[in-house]
Amino acid sequence: MMNFDTLKARGLFDERLPRYTSYPPAPAFSADIGPAFQTEALAALDPDAPISLYLHIPFCERLCWFCACRTQGVRSLTPVQAYLETLRRELALIATHQSRKLRVKQMHWGGGTPTILPPALIREVSDMLGEVFVMDTDTTFSVEIDPTLVDADKIAALKDAGMTRASIGVQDFAPLVQKCIGRLQSYEQTLEAVEMLRAAQVASLNVDLVYGLPFQSTEGFAQTLHQVNTLRPDRVALFGYAHVPHMAKRQSLIPEASLPGDRARFTLFNKATELLCADGMEAIGIDHFARPDDSMARAARDGTLRRNFQGYTVDGCDTLLGLGASSISRFKEGFVQNAAQTGDYTRQINTGELAGVRGYRLTSEDRLRGRIIEMLMCDFAIDFKELDLNDVDRARIKPAVDALRRECDGMIVETQDRLSLSPQARPLVRRLAHFFDASNPAHAGYSRVS
Ligand code: SF4
Repeated sequence: MMNFDTLKARGLFDERLPRYTSYPPAPAFSADIGPAFQTEALAALDPDAPISLYLHIPFCERLCWFCACRTQGVRSLTPVQAYLETLRRELALIATHQSRKLRVKQMHWGGGTPTILPPALIREVSDMLGEVFVMDTDTTFSVEIDPTLVDADKIAALKDAGMTRASIGVQDFAPLVQKCIGRLQSYEQTLEAVEMLRAAQVASLNVDLVYGLPFQSTEGFAQTLHQVNTLRPDRVALFGYAHVPHMAKRQSLIPEASLPGDRARFTLFNKATELLCADGMEAIGIDHFARPDDSMARAARDGTLRRNFQGYTVDGCDTLLGLGASSISRFKEGFVQNAAQTGDYTRQINTGELAGVRGYRLTSEDRLRGRIIEMLMCDFAIDFKELDLNDVDRARIKPAVDALRRECDGMIVETQDRLSLSPQARPLVRRLAHFFDASNPAHAGYSRVS
């Protein structure tokens, strides 16, 4: 792999680029797309084709300072219950466009903090979803779990609802780091939550970590990695902290001077990678790790890994239906995002309309560019055989392919059907993907590349 000085000389640490969880990236969405588009796309769904579901629960009991998620702090369940009533109305509106219940292949509850819901509300939400959707016997259902806000009864309710994977936020166990991000969560609390999940026979566990946090040291983060390894997760997501206080106001509580510099971030990421791989995990894409027998590692090996708004996924469904405030749906026609604030989401649903307020209608050129970007982000390769380009498409992407070749001089392997990045070129992948991005919205909120 290229060392720090080489990447620095190439300007990698100064770049702010999309993470390409969609193409085009969400900042390119426009306010021209709304409920009419959502209605058209819902009505055109094939009832026999399984879909993915994302449910957003935008509430937290604690508001961690590093977090840029769309969420609001609450001290009682009253706003949560009101939100669930709006969700019930949103589901009823979706149902009016379906001749029968849609089959769900994959479901994710995220937020916010889904485990803010007490068992009775977890069951209520599950029943509401069951009115509109059918879960297959092999449906995977993942839930973001806050170990400080979960107990055996909530886990039992989630398990009854079909939970197959728990995703636990850890970030870093070092007490000083936790204090400086406003998120206290001991290893013992986390272990207790993991033991409850295992006792409930939740088969798969994901752990989220963040590097680049205030006062993070290589030694301290290595200790966190050792502790995480004792939890035996099946997957780990290792995200870089993006300090954007102009967009996420809570982050202004984190002094910039406490953040590790470029070289320290680079070392933190590589140390974590080294320790996870030494523990038997395989590196997946730009920021995930999985045990070799996990479905994500298998998908990475056989070229079926995909990218969606949660990051990497094995989900092959064409349709991802987002439910709740700020959630984004992906249809074959394009993307649509619900109103971000719960008040706006509620007002729009109460008018009897779906809650979409912005989005993007895809052209065939967008689909081509999006698929190439997804291939690069997932496989570090472009499979020309799968793309089956005509002359017009070949001409369209030629400047980007040429730019990639120049950038990766000596670091690609090419055959007639495939262009593969060598391992040294992988840290450049977001820059390479950006060559294919024709949307190019000017936006200051993109995250650091490294
Ligand atoms: S990290 Fe989780 S608990 Fe903390 S504010 Fe973000 S969503 Fe809420």
